[in-house]
Amino acid sequence: MPRTAMALDVGGTKLAAAVIGDDGALLSRRQVSTPAREGLPALEDAVLRVVAGAVEDAGRRPDAVGIGSAGPIDPSAGTVSPVNIPAWRGFPIVGLLERALPGRPVRLAGDGHCMALGEYWRGHQTSRALLGMVVSTGVGGGLVLDGQIQAGPTGNAGHIGHMVIDPRGPACPCGGRGCVEMFASGPSMLRWAHAHGWCGSDAGTDTRALADCARAGDPIARQAFDRAADAIALAVLCAAALADLDDVVIGGGVATGAHDLLLARIRDEVRRLAGPEFIRRVRIEPSALGGDAGLLGAAALALNPAAA
Ligand SMILES: [Zn+2]
Repeated sequence: MPRTAMALDVGGTKLAAAVIGDDGALLSRRQVSTPAREGLPALEDAVLRVVAGAVEDAGRRPDAVGIGSAGPIDPSAGTVSPVNIPAWRGFPIVGLLERALPGRPVRLAGDGHCMALGEYWRGHQTSRALLGMVVSTGVGGGLVLDGQIQAGPTGNAGHIGHMVIDPRGPACPCGGRGCVEMFASGPSMLRWAHAHGWCGSDAGTDTRALADCARAGDPIARQAFDRAADAIALAVLCAAALADLDDVVIGGGVATGAHDLLLARIRDEVRRLAGPEFIRRVRIEPSALGGDAGLLGAAALALNPAAA
């Protein structure tokens, strides 16, 4: 019988769980909104319900468990402290899943790592060096070299959103300055657009409205996407120079809704600025898996411990 994994994707806005076969097939999938502003009992209950629901729908207990979580995380301690879930600071999520599915090994990685692993496993298995980028509320990522996610000694390698691309740029909540995230995350793009006179979407939280205005020819909206694309291109150039990348796969909610506004400009900037042929050759592609990349990567983590 083929092996299956319970994949859990923990984010500040949603919790998703799926039972996934070793061929990548989703046997079940459940999703709930993260009760991010509530206390521990509500959060634990939401995780246990979404996991139990996915097991029930699949009709079988999975053989292994993989968790991809928003960071910071501590894989060696099995704990997570997602920035957007204040009640979870050093929360032992691995222990929670061990109790929910006794006897099953549980593995934990960052959400950016899982996205990159998912893209490698389901879309780019011949890639020798793949960078996955999640462009969303923040900018994250993961680097897969020769089939293995590169986590680094503290589990934080691949944090491409905090590469500094402008030393005189805006201060970043991470403590740095001029990070990619300050140009290319959804909130950063909206903040810049509002500060420069864009008056769409009063709530200021909707990059889809910004994208629609850019497509309609609004110069400020267009410029917000160009700045984001240029920042991503600089990060890609540095990463490609460092890691001899075959592929850069760009996903996440903001990018997925605006590939038409971002990808061509990113590719053009990389070609314009790159010197050596090994950098120029990097392929820059949209995510093929969309919102399920993190779940598939968590399954890959569970079913192939050699990947992490
Ligand atoms: Zn930063």
